[in-house]
Amino acid sequence: RLYNQVQDLKGSIRVYCRVRPFLPGQPNRLSTVCHIDDGNIKITTPSKYGKEGRKSFTFNKVFGPSTTQEEVFSDTEPLIRSVLDGYNVCIFAYGQTGSGKTYTMSGPSDFSQENLGVNYRALNDLFLISEQRKSIISYDVSVQMIEIYNEQVRDLLVTDEIRNSSQNGINVPDANLVPVASSSDVLYLMNLGHKNRAVGATAMNDRSSRSHSCLTVHVQGRDLTSGTVLRGCMHLVDLAGSERVDKSEAVGDRLKEAQHINKSLSALGDVIASLAQKNSHVPYRNSKLTQLLQDSLGKTFVLYSRLLSPFLVFTFTTYRPLNVSGGQAKTLMFVHISPEIDAIGETISTLKFAERVS
Ligand code: ADP
Ligand code: MG
Repeated sequence: RLYNQVQDLKGSIRVYCRVRPFLPGQPNRLSTVCHIDDGNIKITTPSKYGKEGRKSFTFNKVFGPSTTQEEVFSDTEPLIRSVLDGYNVCIFAYGQTGSGKTYTMSGPSDFSQENLGVNYRALNDLFLISEQRKSIISYDVSVQMIEIYNEQVRDLLVTDEIRNSSQNGINVPDANLVPVASSSDVLYLMNLGHKNRAVGATAMNDRSSRSHSCLTVHVQGRDLTSGTVLRGCMHLVDLAGSERVDKSEAVGDRLKEAQHINKSLSALGDVIASLAQKNSHVPYRNSKLTQLLQDSLGKTFVLYSRLLSPFLVFTFTTYRPLNVSGGQAKTLMFVHISPEIDAIGETISTLKFAERVS
């Protein structure tokens, strides 16, 4: 059993690839030739689009265009539930603009109920489980929502009613931490965050594709018999579009945005890759995003080093499930692929990025 647990935790950085379907009303588009087989995706590049060839990439899962939101969520649920046992969880959505990041995390732009994304389903699920456990553990759940644009952090949960509470804001000390108890609380806040995010964006400048947004869920559970308290934290991150900007075209603000995005996405890649390789030095300081997530991403390394020693494995298992220090971290990256043939260049570089971090 112990062996199984260790096996399970070994892959604590997971990568899922999701291919978006063609969008309605845009017919006659050529599709990237891609062959999906379990955790494997094979891309065939026609000679017209650069060097002809087949490239194969392997991930923990590959979701084809017909995969539903529910199916995606059910493969993410175990990870999400572990936050209630005191784990720290980071989930990222990566990909070029238009590839489906926001769809996976939030859902379609009209927030239609049956297609809501991971964020809403995750919170709903946490409420469900905490209700089931309520005779044993009492849980408090609260959320923060921020945006990082040009290395500046902005709180997305600001209204006159919600006052700035300084308590317990572990990773984003100055952002409002709002207690939530039901799905309707969550929907209200998602809408508020969405509206605040739109402020400052003009029709010409869809800022949401050029900023990272992060929904952070803080969970505190108190064991009703022993009084032991455990804390878990989950970051759900919709990253800025990963597309390369043509240097000759980008000037002024657009160039500055592009440089910030490049820098922070490669900083994130470096951090995850060095965690996966168990490097002793992890370069967190290179971007706002990695600084903010440091606590949640960093513990992965501690987990790995613990697993290397049989004695420490023992220590680790004794602490579970009530880990007072708010112990280990689990990371999942969704990489998104657009099916159109003209996206092939970005598709290949997205898959290469994903391969590097997994
Ligand atoms: P991104 O956030 O990466 O820029 P979006 O999530 O906004 O991309 O997706 C672009 C468009 O494609 C949106 O209209 C979205 O509703 C639609 N879309 C994305 N993924 C899917 C999917 N799996 N099924 C149906 N529509 C999707
Ligand atoms: Mg988006």
